[in-house]
Amino acid sequence: MNQKQEQKEDSLFGGDGYSATDVFDNKHSCTGYTYDDLIMLPGEITFDTSQVSLMTQLTKKIKLHLPLVSSPMDTVTEAEMAIGMALQGGIGIIHYNNSVEEQAEMVRRVKRFENGFITDPVCLSPNHLISDVDAIREKQGFCGIPVTEDGKMGSRLVGMVASRDIDFLQDRSRKLSEVMTTNLVVAQHPCTLAEANLILRESKKGKLPIVTDEYKLVSLISRSDLVKNRDFPNASKDENKQLLVGAAIGTRENDKIRLAALMKEGLDLVVLDSSQGDSIYQHQMIKWIKSTYPDLQVVGGNVVTCSQVRHLCESGVDGIRVGMGVGSICTTQEVCAAGRAQASAVFHSARQAAAYGVPIWADGGISSSGHIVKALSLGASCCMMGSMMAGTEEAPGQYFFQDGVRLKKYRGMGSIEAMSKGSDKRYFGEKATVKVAQGVSGAVVDKGSIRRFIPYLEQGVRHGFQDLGVPSLKNMNSMRISGELRFELRTSAAQREGGVHDLHSYERRLM
Ligand code: GDP
Ligand code: GDP
Ligand code: 5GP
Repeated sequence: MNQKQEQKEDSLFGGDGYSATDVFDNKHSCTGYTYDDLIMLPGEITFDTSQVSLMTQLTKKIKLHLPLVSSPMDTVTEAEMAIGMALQGGIGIIHYNNSVEEQAEMVRRVKRFENGFITDPVCLSPNHLISDVDAIREKQGFCGIPVTEDGKMGSRLVGMVASRDIDFLQDRSRKLSEVMTTNLVVAQHPCTLAEANLILRESKKGKLPIVTDEYKLVSLISRSDLVKNRDFPNASKDENKQLLVGAAIGTRENDKIRLAALMKEGLDLVVLDSSQGDSIYQHQMIKWIKSTYPDLQVVGGNVVTCSQVRHLCESGVDGIRVGMGVGSICTTQEVCAAGRAQASAVFHSARQAAAYGVPIWADGGISSSGHIVKALSLGASCCMMGSMMAGTEEAPGQYFFQDGVRLKKYRGMGSIEAMSKGSDKRYFGEKATVKVAQGVSGAVVDKGSIRRFIPYLEQGVRHGFQDLGVPSLKNMNSMRISGELRFELRTSAAQREGGVHDLHSYERRLM
């Protein structure tokens, strides 16, 4: 900042805290700060929380309504979490501590969950049996099946089978030709999704097949998707109205095979998962993916310094994960002495990445909606969370009781327990004879469903934006750069004062 700018700022904000640049570029303090070290000074409220726009750029090409991402960890994100996150406007990144087939199946489940036109619906022929429909229902979860002459897509539609055609029939070996509905409501190809939806709504049927003049099946739409679309208007979707999903992979040769399998299922975004992402392996992998799958968004990381950010940007990433050794389950800073306090890491990385137009994700160390507000105020485009999402119903694993408290397991991907299942790639331990853990294995308390927990977090963030007088994430960035956004550091006494204190006892209820 030059002298003139400084004078202007003083006259505008004298006594009212400091700009982010003042706090983080302070060469004399040589200190790294994290979220709790900072507090943000309030601004003027001129709008309602419902008017706050949290719309964000997740990667160069993907926009989300809600800047929240669930971590690729085997106690956090599988298909159920990814579906729940995308329905609420965020996104989930499916972990890769599993077989290629298992991970691909999870991506498939997310992409199949909601649809506009289903262009490759599962079809059967009139000679198939009711038991074949049962098998599809068991494996795929739906049983509204178009029946075509030869049982394939593109051939003549002869009927539809739905649960109401077969639910109460004892003999499951009967042919579909005997039980299918033949008096069909169809839409003529070509038609728009809005036109097809109108016919579907008026028909009061569960499915609407789209056919050519010769009654050849082109696609199918489902009433339940209209309901999902009504209930979750901010869901993160692609142009086919399918939910967006990401998946993590490593940077080894066989990860290319893994990625090919995920691409077949319609993956939108790949995260190269490494605790220290500034490696030649990752640089090469980014270049290879961008040349092999130019439309796939690639997120690199994890990094915490400007030079690391530059290397990833110059390799061609579409987004960067920032955070080293700050996760709740993480012991990297203790074991390896490398890392950075997270608020400093986010501020500096985001400022550097902005020069390349690359969004950054603040990954790890988030334990409240206030931390989310702080990460976004420092330049993060979204927040990635592990422990916050673990312990919800949508996280993998079963609940158990300990000392009367309902818990779910949560473990670091660099814990001995997770590494012994295969995640050692992330922590460079695969070839080593002695495994050195960089994470622990533990448990977190039950948080209920993310259908309630995410709206709670979102509303907390909206209140934060309102208190700061910031109507949108876009404004947050311009106000940080102009110096309008004001921060102060807190002493440890001030931090104590900012928490609950001096009570004999209290109960904490989140909502
Ligand atoms: P846009 O085309 O990207 O502007 O998307 P809109 O959200 O306006 O959707 C266009 C039409 O598709 C509207 O009639 C929506 O109700 C409908 N729509 C949106 N999502 C889905 C979905 O998942 N399934 C179906 N069948 N229709 C959808
Ligand atoms: P159904 O009536 O038993 O078929 O099931 P629902 O209508 O409740 O749910 C079907 C859901 O599965 C919708 O969200 C569809 O978009 C989705 N889906 C994905 N692929 C297919 C498919 O090949 N066939 C059908 N019927 N649904 C599919
Ligand atoms: P949390 O939200 O629980 O504070 O942190 C989650 C983040 O910690 C993950 O997104 C990931 O970046 C990181 N992480 C996950 N497992 C481990 C681990 O075992 N060791 C380290 N160092 N980091 C981990």
